[in-house]
Amino acid sequence: MIRVGVIGALGRMGRLVCTAVAEDPELALVAAIDRSHIGEEIGPVVGRPEIGVAASDEPDSLLQAETEVAVDFTHPDVVMDDIRWAIEHAMHIVVGTTGITDESLKEIRELLEREGGESNVIVAPNFAIGAVLAERFAMQAVKFFPAVEVIELHHEGKADAPSGTALAAVRKILEQRDETHRGPDKESVEGVRGGDVDGVRVHSVRLPGLVAHQEIIFGGQGQTLSIRHDSMDRSSFMPGVLMAIKAITTRPGLTVGLAPLLEANE
Ligand code: NAP
Repeated sequence: MIRVGVIGALGRMGRLVCTAVAEDPELALVAAIDRSHIGEEIGPVVGRPEIGVAASDEPDSLLQAETEVAVDFTHPDVVMDDIRWAIEHAMHIVVGTTGITDESLKEIRELLEREGGESNVIVAPNFAIGAVLAERFAMQAVKFFPAVEVIELHHEGKADAPSGTALAAVRKILEQRDETHRGPDKESVEGVRGGDVDGVRVHSVRLPGLVAHQEIIFGGQGQTLSIRHDSMDRSSFMPGVLMAIKAITTRPGLTVGLAPLLEANE
């Protein structure tokens, strides 16, 4: 059994992770960190009253519970502190919180090296397996179409815009081409052509009713190709999260994205 502690345990994603971990016979939910629900029993939340885990705001409770793998679904403002703490305490950490920059990834690599590599880190801006496949299919199309724009659509509570998934997709698109066809810049209303991420237009829609959706639209001569993925509810992220928890001990250092884990399963 892998001993798992969830950080942000009573947030929207954290609750689902707690339930998914509690229901998986290979995993044990042993700790829960949540600053707003200190002392609240997690068992009833995950439909398993027998789980004697109460929420705490003390990271040390992860150590006391002998957590092997921490899972972080918190906020871009605090996630780097959590990662630093896990690395410094030789604990593996699976990170779903978005907003992690290239600079942060560099810092994580340096920290892992400095601390002797006792913990492994998986950072994935999108744990939905369909989204990872959609990105892979899009990368097959990149070199055949001169123009591309990305539309990402999320619920109103999302802290960052554009999404980490959209930024990662743009980064990968740019790795495969020397220049981008930006299309016309002219706007009669400011911002209506979207944000410019290194020359690729990204449009962020925030509406109630949405969960997490992304469409990559390629434009070419007389044709377009749209590759779209929709997460209809947050449970779509759980198979990917469980896959990462189970794989993390076999992935030394930093793993970015779910794609390498999917490849290992092919
Ligand atoms: P949420 O419902 O707001 O939950 C966030 C959790 O983090 C709550 O427990 C919250 O505690 C805690 N938190 C927030 N700010 C904090 C701070 N300054 N210090 C300590 N704890 C803090 O958010 P969510 O919808 O679960 O999303 C969490 C993260 O996961 C976001 O970054 C989101 O973009 C990301 N996400 C990733 C994926 C993926 O596949 N990788 C999928 C969906 C979402 P309070 O209740 O006290 O604020």
